[in-house]
Parts: sequence; C-alpha cells; structure tokens
Amino acid sequence: MKNLTLPAEGGCRCGRVRLKISAPPLLTMACHCTGCQRMSASAYSLSAAIPSEAFAVTQGEPVIGGLHGASHHFFCPYCMSWMFTRSEGLDWFVNLRPTMLDDPGWFTPFIETWTSEKLPWASTPAVHSYEALPAMEEYEKLIAEFAGTFGGASNAGG
Ligand SMILES: [Zn+2]
Ligand SMILES: [Zn+2]
Repeated sequence: MKNLTLPAEGGCRCGRVRLKISAPPLLTMACHCTGCQRMSASAYSLSAAIPSEAFAVTQGEPVIGGLHGASHHFFCPYCMSWMFTRSEGLDWFVNLRPTMLDDPGWFTPFIETWTSEKLPWASTPAVHSYEALPAMEEYEKLIAEFAGTFGGASNAGG
C-alpha cells in the first residue's frame, strides 16, 4: 500500500471541481447498500472520513444530488461525479470518495457496511464487516483502532 502524502489534492472527472485534504482519514469505509450501488453505478461506494477542518473545495461549486435528505451528497455540476457527502448533525467530518484524489493508491476500506444488501460476488479487504451499520457507540473504538493501523500518512510540508 502506498503512503498518503499530505496535503493531497483531487477533483471530479472533468476537473471543474477541485478539492484538498490536509489530514489523514479518521476511518475508511466501503458501503454495499443499494443506494450507494445506484449512486456509484458500481458494487459499492468508498468513503474516507476526513475531519471537516482539514477538507476544502478549492475550485468550482459542487451541487447537492442523491436523495436531497439528511445526507447531503455533493456532485460536480457538470460531469456529475459523486464527490463527497456531509451528514446533518455529523458536522465534524466529510465522507470523501477517495477515488476523487489524484493519487488514491493509499486507500483501503477498514470497515464495510450493509453487507446484507451486497452483490453476491462483491468482497472487500475490510477488517470489520457489518450487515447494516456499526452502532454509534462503536465508532469511537473503530476510529482508535484505525488510527493504530493507518501508518500511511506523511506530510510533504506547505
Ligand atoms: Zn466535473
Ligand atoms: Zn451506502
């Protein structure tokens, strides 16, 4: 696995929206739910939970798509790439789709969710699997465990 070099930049398929992260993820995830299957047009979505203060859109103006509900799914207004998600009441992190980053080679999902809805053949290297979601009180332990295993971040300075 490659190291995550910070800050790391990324963007959508067409490049009109660009973003930057300046801290490593709190947790990395794959979600097999049917909603993610539809929005990602694939077997599962990928998320890197980035602390909000370490996440910035540096160019362009993403628009809300998906269900327009409590989870705000942000898309590029031109190429419609699903870029990141902010959840109401969970303001301290942003779930970035890691494949938006120019170099996502460091990414591996640490947990996977909604395996009850997964495609029969779909599997990931996640360490923890959940038929639905982890209980809210489990996240603290998962974040601590992930921090202990994620040695991949280095700071390039600047
Ligand atoms: Zn775009
Ligand atoms: Zn999902």
